[in-house]
Amino acid sequence: MRLIMAVLMLATLAQAQEFDLVIANGRVMDPATGLDAVRYVGIRAGKVAAVSAEALRGRTVLDAQGLVVAPGFIDLHSHGQTPENYRFKAMDGVTTALEMEVGVSPVPAWYAAREGKALVNFGATSGHLPARMAVMHDSGTLLPRDNAVERAATPEEHREILALVRRGLEEGALGIGVGIAYVPLATRAEILDLFKLAAEKKTTLYIHMRNGGPVEPGVIDALQEVLADAAATGASLHVVHITSMGLRETPLCLEMIAGARRRGLDVTTEAYPYTAGMTDLGSAIFSDGWQARQGGIGFGDLQWAATGERLTAESFARYRRQGGMVAIHSIPEDIVKLAMGNPLVEIASDGILENGKGHPRAAGTFTRVLGRYVREQHVLTLMEALRKMTLAPAERLGVASKGRIAVGADADLAVFDAARVTDRATFENPAQYSEGMIYVLVNGVPVVRDGKLVDGVAPGRGLRR
Ligand SMILES: [Zn+2]
Repeated sequence: MRLIMAVLMLATLAQAQEFDLVIANGRVMDPATGLDAVRYVGIRAGKVAAVSAEALRGRTVLDAQGLVVAPGFIDLHSHGQTPENYRFKAMDGVTTALEMEVGVSPVPAWYAAREGKALVNFGATSGHLPARMAVMHDSGTLLPRDNAVERAATPEEHREILALVRRGLEEGALGIGVGIAYVPLATRAEILDLFKLAAEKKTTLYIHMRNGGPVEPGVIDALQEVLADAAATGASLHVVHITSMGLRETPLCLEMIAGARRRGLDVTTEAYPYTAGMTDLGSAIFSDGWQARQGGIGFGDLQWAATGERLTAESFARYRRQGGMVAIHSIPEDIVKLAMGNPLVEIASDGILENGKGHPRAAGTFTRVLGRYVREQHVLTLMEALRKMTLAPAERLGVASKGRIAVGADADLAVFDAARVTDRATFENPAQYSEGMIYVLVNGVPVVRDGKLVDGVAPGRGLRR
């Protein structure tokens, strides 16, 4: 009798110790604590339930010997919010893909369309651009093309735009998305009102600044505008894609941001690891004088995404009327390298693919940093790169359950082979999956297994404020 009791108790104990899933024997790297050691990670109900030097028992055990186990990457700047884009994100180690720059409006419908159907976690800001496009009846889709570009808002429109942005925040959006360069006639007062709203709601603005490049009006005065607004209101500020705005002035921009932080402003920034940007040729970015604003480039530095062709004065005019994505080869390689190595700069893709066409950053941003800038060029350490992809964006979002490997954290994990992780997407063929991600877990569910996408799973959840 006593023996039977003991066996039963042991069985119960073993049951209690069994996890849904265990990642065994991997090199666990957690930027939040600096942990870098071989550990077993036990997962239960979508959360990390144990991180142990001793072996753990799981109903499923994934062998990670020789692999790095990191928090899943958080992409703060992912315009691509479709199943196609989420597949490329997962293969690049991204477990949370957020549309923070342009944002969305209305917010609830956007979340509802993805809930229960997404491969990775998703979320968005309440967007000033979509609100302005709706109120001013602009014909653009992702970005404004006409009415919202060509004039200032009337006082009535201004109030309606602000009310829509406010409503989006109250419906759970993750902050305010602002693309000033796309609506160049939005007054400084209109933008300042968005800062006041962010301060009132204690949230962050994610901003594409008014201007870029070295020629005034350029990136320095544009950065001064948003830093002044942040100082005047107390709102938190995230400046998107600093390299494609700053170009050769990027070091000075980073100096200004560092100075603002030393004086107590909450300012962060990000960049992608490529020497070209991309946007809609039909947008205000290409109004007269674009060559100077892009640092002195010409038609041949533009590459039409649909065909990969370089543009001429003739094809520029034709495609600009039509609208569509174009790569802008404008960012010096040494500036990309400087940004990757600067501790203030988080990693974010700014990517979007549509039927396989777009910029390679949509597919390869995170593995490109790990392969090219960490392993090959030693621009930054692996732990520092992981911090810029996980903990830093989680802190920007104010989300304590992501960006770290700790008991109670969401089981979003990227398990990869540091010796061969690399991007494969190119400007000519952007729709190529990255290599070297062996397992990627979203809320405890494998979405990548043995280096391949898992079919028929949708563990991604909407991230709300
Ligand atoms: Zn942008």
